[in-house]
Amino acid sequence: MSSRKSNPSSLAKLDQEYVWHPFTQMRDWLRREPIVIVAGHGTVLRDVKGREFLDANSSIWVNLHGHAHPKINAAIARQLKRIAHSSALGFANEPASLLAARLIHAAALPAGARQSARRSALANPTLQKVFFGDDGSTALEVALKLAYEFTRRTRGAKTKPRFLSLAGAYHGDTIGAVSLGHIDLFHRAYGGMLFKSDHVMSPYCYRCPFNRAKPERDDARNYRRCHWECLDLVERKFSAQKKRGNPYAAFVFEPLMQGAAGMIPQPAGWLRQAAELARSHGALLLADEVMTGFGRTGAGPNADSAATPLNPPSPRSGPPSNRLFACHAEGVQPDFLCVAKGLTGGYLPMAATLTTREVFAAFLGKYEDFKTFFHGHSFTGNQLGAAAALASLDLLEGAVSRRARVELERNLHAELQPLWALPAVGDIRQVGLVAGIELVKDWRTREPFPLRTSAGIRVCDAMARRGVLTRPVGNVIVLLPPYCTTPAELHRMVSALHDAVAEEMALT
Ligand code: PMP
Repeated sequence: MSSRKSNPSSLAKLDQEYVWHPFTQMRDWLRREPIVIVAGHGTVLRDVKGREFLDANSSIWVNLHGHAHPKINAAIARQLKRIAHSSALGFANEPASLLAARLIHAAALPAGARQSARRSALANPTLQKVFFGDDGSTALEVALKLAYEFTRRTRGAKTKPRFLSLAGAYHGDTIGAVSLGHIDLFHRAYGGMLFKSDHVMSPYCYRCPFNRAKPERDDARNYRRCHWECLDLVERKFSAQKKRGNPYAAFVFEPLMQGAAGMIPQPAGWLRQAAELARSHGALLLADEVMTGFGRTGAGPNADSAATPLNPPSPRSGPPSNRLFACHAEGVQPDFLCVAKGLTGGYLPMAATLTTREVFAAFLGKYEDFKTFFHGHSFTGNQLGAAAALASLDLLEGAVSRRARVELERNLHAELQPLWALPAVGDIRQVGLVAGIELVKDWRTREPFPLRTSAGIRVCDAMARRGVLTRPVGNVIVLLPPYCTTPAELHRMVSALHDAVAEEMALT
């Protein structure tokens, strides 16, 4: 049975007969014909019936430079002629070695931030080693196991390492990653299989009980009225755990913006202060940059981590900033940096966990000491993925991509503004090239739509009817365009969202 010869509706039928889709209520799925994607070019996806759609969430947050980019395609094709895969269990390979070096270089905290970090409470580590995995979940799983074992080896084998992550956190679907997660809807069912981790309030300004500001037609971070009570809670959490005699082993977070929690952005300064608190309590920092990595949170600038509102960053000369990682916006360098999704430009499944020489050293010893990190995947260090990732990094580090990202960020901000006119838009939160638009019953009260009304799904369906594809997180509509999105395409995406909200909300 060749898919190439099948007619459009037979492909849809095959899917409905045999495929089980992720995070999907399959009863609903089976009720209507799915869109079957057969090709993509730039920001455009084409389906089997020849219809074209804009990929407004970069195919679930993975695609960076657009589909079928000639440079990435060529890099994969070149590599394919040599070899697709050989095992990293026992052998090195060329693209994986090159990529590890490039990643370490790309993830180095820029010199300005490093120097000022020394003056602040943040003792930023140097990332030196790369462990390759397959996807975001395995990147987290690796970091988690390394942090666990590193803690036992440095604090004593009787230690029971405990982790702190953020309320609403999502770090993947493997059991370790789920244990760090705090989305009841996804995670409660598996409670019996999980280890216990703690959570602390995340700075969700729009719905923060400490924010005394009445709703305004602006990003809630801009008009919040509070005294950083969320950070007091972080401090209290660390102190309480220390009093129990078992300080947290690691603080796990998505920097600048939590994705699956509902595109929840952190107000400027939160990350730096939370990281300082964690460090002052001896916790390792475990940054999940699966969504935020590789320029997604904007091209610049890299923060001067000693800067405060009273002591602003010193003006810097030199080339314009081309920041690739969210952590660096606040001058934070974690002990574990987890990347996946955009690592290969979104072309092939590959992940990496970057860590320090200190963590690496804790696993060195005589063979018979069995200090080895007993973990690995069959496709670790896969050559095709590494070749794609190298090509993607070439693009990202070039001036053209940087300029495109700066412009796209600016255009996205401008395009989003008319959405404030819609009464069902409660909050619009943009971090770089990601935007979350929270739909509410009434913006004046912030009253949410009950989840069962599936307002988010209905709006995304209405956008699909207008040729724009994205997927909501609850009632938050996500716009996360590929970096090659043109101003006209961006305008179409946001207009479709505007019209879809107006249409659907008129029905409620
Ligand atoms: N961490 C974050 C922040 C994510 O957004 C995701 C996926 N959405 C993951 C981890 C898990 O990645 P994957 O789906 O590739 O396993």
